[in-house]
Amino acid sequence: MIVAIAFSKISVPWLLIPIIIYSAIESYGAYFIQSGFHFKSLCKAKTNEKNIVITFDDGPSANAKEVLEKLKRANVKATFFLIGKNILNDKEVVKQIHDEGHLIGNHSFTHSGWFDLFSANRIKSELIQTEMLIQETTGITTKLFRPPFGVTNPNLRKALTKLNLISIGWNVRSFDTSIKDEKKN
Ligand SMILES: [Zn+2]
Repeated sequence: MIVAIAFSKISVPWLLIPIIIYSAIESYGAYFIQSGFHFKSLCKAKTNEKNIVITFDDGPSANAKEVLEKLKRANVKATFFLIGKNILNDKEVVKQIHDEGHLIGNHSFTHSGWFDLFSANRIKSELIQTEMLIQETTGITTKLFRPPFGVTNPNLRKALTKLNLISIGWNVRSFDTSIKDEKKN
């Protein structure tokens, strides 16, 4: 009864405030991988040395060979987070990435725009599909995973826990997938 009376005195816009705050915190947690809100992602190493870890997402892409050539010339090793359906397009270059000493990580099978709405089981089966392709192509199993779009949520946490995968984030992002102007970078 008391609650009913209290509620009747609160106008609707006030009731919306906690919902807005809750949604804002949820969205922040989901979209800012460094926040570790839904689960922890490795975004930087604890070291006093000036080291950089370079990662490439969404491959293997059409310019993979060119990227590999540049890395070889600079004597730099990188980590490539590969999309399963892209592996199917160019297994040879995936093998080359591995043979040239770079690390390979899982970056889902479809990289669907709806990925963050998928059930834990659907996410799990995508990750297994990609994992099997990586294994079949290179002979290695990877423990590294990068969430598509860097979005994290409880379903992804469940899938990663089941598969014992480590989420890898970043602390510097190039935004080269969203900035279309080549000169801006
Ligand atoms: Zn991606």
